[in-house]
Amino acid sequence: MGFLIRWLESLDYDYKILSHCSRYKSPLSSCTECIAHCPTEAIQLQTGKPVIHAADCIDCGKCVVSCPVQAVEGFLPRRSIINKQYIMDSDNTPTLNELLVYYKKGITTIVCTEKYMSAAWEETLEQVNQLLIQLGEKPFTISNEQPPSPHHESMTRRELLFTWEKELKQFAKKMTPAKWRFNHENLDVAKHYPDYQFVHIYLDKSKCTLCKACQMLCPKSCLQINETNFTLVAQQCSNCLLCQDICPENAISLKKMISTATTEKQPIYTKECPCCEKTYQTINEIQQLCVACQKKQQFSSSIIEQSINCKKEESSWQI
Ligand code: SF4
Ligand code: SF4
Ligand code: SF4
Repeated sequence: MGFLIRWLESLDYDYKILSHCSRYKSPLSSCTECIAHCPTEAIQLQTGKPVIHAADCIDCGKCVVSCPVQAVEGFLPRRSIINKQYIMDSDNTPTLNELLVYYKKGITTIVCTEKYMSAAWEETLEQVNQLLIQLGEKPFTISNEQPPSPHHESMTRRELLFTWEKELKQFAKKMTPAKWRFNHENLDVAKHYPDYQFVHIYLDKSKCTLCKACQMLCPKSCLQINETNFTLVAQQCSNCLLCQDICPENAISLKKMISTATTEKQPIYTKECPCCEKTYQTINEIQQLCVACQKKQQFSSSIIEQSINCKKEESSWQI
């Protein structure tokens, strides 16, 4: 199978940004993860959207692993795994998310055959082990012994050809390009640790107007607004920042932190506005006016403030 994978990987094709990229969904998205992780500056923004320039791409796969919404299609970075042990490559450090996913796939030992571990690897291991402890897991085991290669039985030529034919058939069945090149589910670290959340979503109740923009754009359905509640389910949140970027009231802020998965429900109140006498909904229990009347009031007070400032400026000129 390894031979087949190497051969298929050697085929030429271009990495691609998919349409569910946050920047394709909203021009307000500030995500630059793929751009920041590309070592050759092959990804550039064109009219606010990331585009991969194939001529500069070295197929390292760093954009694929760094995208919080798995919107880059391409191969994952090549890592050496032998007998469920990760063989350290001092020039190539994996991301924390990759290591957390490998851990859940049973790869809990990292083999370092070099005399000294690189500073980048030391830092990565320290960070990932801290995360594992917060996730109630044991840290990675470090081994200095290269594991023996997987057991290969000697085969006759006929047996070998038969095996290849069988593997090719099995492989061909899975050859829908997206599945083969990139398994979206695989890198979603939240899916591998369902009892924990990796992000805390803060909602400022005094600012939110229940416009539902965040609900419409969240790719993980973390923000749900219905007639009675605004529910925040952060377990699936990938910290794509889209809700924070697009909220017109700056009512959402995010913080990367591991905690037990929780669902937060904010009750929605139905009130009557004393100014326009219309019924409206709010999550701010002390709010008096409806959003429209509140905005009108804010607008008129800002006009009054501006005219006072203008008068002050005029009088200072006269002096
Ligand atoms: S990291 Fe993903 S979501 Fe962010 S700009 Fe790149 S492709 Fe889009
Ligand atoms: S948090 Fe912001 S985007 Fe979401 S409903 Fe409230 S105001 Fe709208
Ligand atoms: S809650 Fe916000 S940051 Fe988390 S996945 Fe949804 S849009 Fe992205």
